[in-house]
Amino acid sequence: MISTETGSEQRFYGIAASPGICIGKAYLVNREGVQVVQKYELSPDEISHETSRFRAAVKKADDELNAVIANTSEELKQNSAILEAHKVLLKDKLLYGKVLSTIESEQVNAEWALKKVVTEINAIFSRMTDAYFRERADDINHVADRILRNLIGGQHKSIGTIDKRVILVARDLSPADTSQIQLERIKGFITDKGGRTSHTSIIARTLEIPAVLGLHDATRNIRNDDIVIVDGTAGVVIVHPTEQTLLTYEERREHYEGYKAQIRRRSHLPAETRDGVHVRILGNIELTEEVVSVLDHGGDGIGLYRTEFQYMNRKEFPDEFELYDKYRDVVEVMGEKPVTIRTLDINGDKAVAFTPENHESNPALGLRAIRYCLKKPDIFKTQLRAILRAAAHGNVRVLFPMISGVEEIVAARRLLDEAALELSRADVPHNRDIPVGIMVEVPSAVIMADALVRQVDFFSIGTNDLIQYTMAIDRGNQNVAHLFHPLHPALIRMVHRVTQIGLEAGIGVDMCGEMAADPLHVPLLLGLGLTELSMAPASIPAIKRMVRLVSAADGQALLQDILRLEKVRDVVHLVDETYGQLVAQKVYGDMGSAR
Ligand code: PEP
Ligand code: MG
Repeated sequence: MISTETGSEQRFYGIAASPGICIGKAYLVNREGVQVVQKYELSPDEISHETSRFRAAVKKADDELNAVIANTSEELKQNSAILEAHKVLLKDKLLYGKVLSTIESEQVNAEWALKKVVTEINAIFSRMTDAYFRERADDINHVADRILRNLIGGQHKSIGTIDKRVILVARDLSPADTSQIQLERIKGFITDKGGRTSHTSIIARTLEIPAVLGLHDATRNIRNDDIVIVDGTAGVVIVHPTEQTLLTYEERREHYEGYKAQIRRRSHLPAETRDGVHVRILGNIELTEEVVSVLDHGGDGIGLYRTEFQYMNRKEFPDEFELYDKYRDVVEVMGEKPVTIRTLDINGDKAVAFTPENHESNPALGLRAIRYCLKKPDIFKTQLRAILRAAAHGNVRVLFPMISGVEEIVAARRLLDEAALELSRADVPHNRDIPVGIMVEVPSAVIMADALVRQVDFFSIGTNDLIQYTMAIDRGNQNVAHLFHPLHPALIRMVHRVTQIGLEAGIGVDMCGEMAADPLHVPLLLGLGLTELSMAPASIPAIKRMVRLVSAADGQALLQDILRLEKVRDVVHLVDETYGQLVAQKVYGDMGSAR
């Protein structure tokens, strides 16, 4: 980790993964990774074992409390009164009874049932104004943490049980870990591994948690409870800050929050360039709940719904109804606005625990995404039927990931037809007439774009993987993160080819990779002819603002200049020189370290 030191203060420089500033105490998670509260579905014959396991964990908690009380000195007797109260709470109907009934009725593991019940209790208590009740909620949380520790073996602490506002420091966080982060408990995070387009970063941006990744050895240099500043915009982590640094960053933090509030107020206006080109700005989501965030940030629809997260933290594949139910929720909330549902993109770095195929030595080049789905037509068709059913409720588009050639899209479309036929035969309401698109994220798809264009209604350019596969750069590897550049002339030429072919043929072309989320790239993307961009919801307001500041004609001129350049450095320099100041001043305003 690159670092500088002033007095006791240490600064570390990593990858600016998710913007914003936070200040707090470090919380180191297990070196081998994070043990999170995972959800498992149980078969009926496993339920009684699970309820016994829960009872045993409660009994153990009771024994622990008895031991603590027995060892409490006379002067601290008041403390043991609290512990006595905790003992009563252990068996409280609201907690104990409810967890047992949740295990039974929902057929889920004890940890998950406990987490669910405690979340519900907290929601009820948080609505109460009386301080007495709010304190009871704290007591219940303490008791629940103790039971949970016993359930998961005590050595690990799960992200879900962290009970103070902390900055998480981890070697790595898997997408499954990050998807469990509870916003109100985590201020920010720092990891040794990961790049800007790793899924950890993507989720951090979606959750709007400041994050600095790829620090190599943060877990060795930072200790529990160290005071830490995370500047996720500049990619800087400051440990043991001086008084002066704290003051400066507190000011910057307030400034940034003010900027966010201000930019958000204007985010509902349409994005139109100075020369009248309307650009549709959509949101990328991972979890159903994020759909609200897209609307809040002024998104014109969902350009990428990554569906794989619904397959994580469980023992089996979800069934058609469960998927349909989730998709329908999203589609109904969005109303007329488009919802682009991307079919399952596992394994790669989003491995599903119950698939044996996840032990590939090189998963990014393995049985991933469409390849996996074509090998498992039953799993695939279950999802396709759910999508077609949800399509009856709104404006749905289906998007196939990792298409590398014509055969794959033909095969995928055939399965989509079969899924529709099955629904028709069973008389299940659905909508067969939906736009079909492919992610263009594998170099062979760019080369074959002239043929692929005849098979689809739209192309969606995924720059995260397109860069990874074109330049041979593992998107999650911090050692090569400095080479991962969207302004590489090779990438620009590829995007140029795809947009030209798509637009000439009259199909839709959009970009949903991270390249679309940087205001500096907007003029170039407009010059390439893109009028639909999709990104993490939090990035929408800044991109809309940038669109309003520039003209498509200037973008075209910039593109022509860029196409004459051969080096990344020259392209970066030209873009920065032409638009850097505008972005710094008019998009981000004076945000101190922000840019
Ligand atoms: C991409 O590859 O650019 C993309 C948007 O998909 P994902 O990040 O989910 O691989
Ligand atoms: Mg991809």
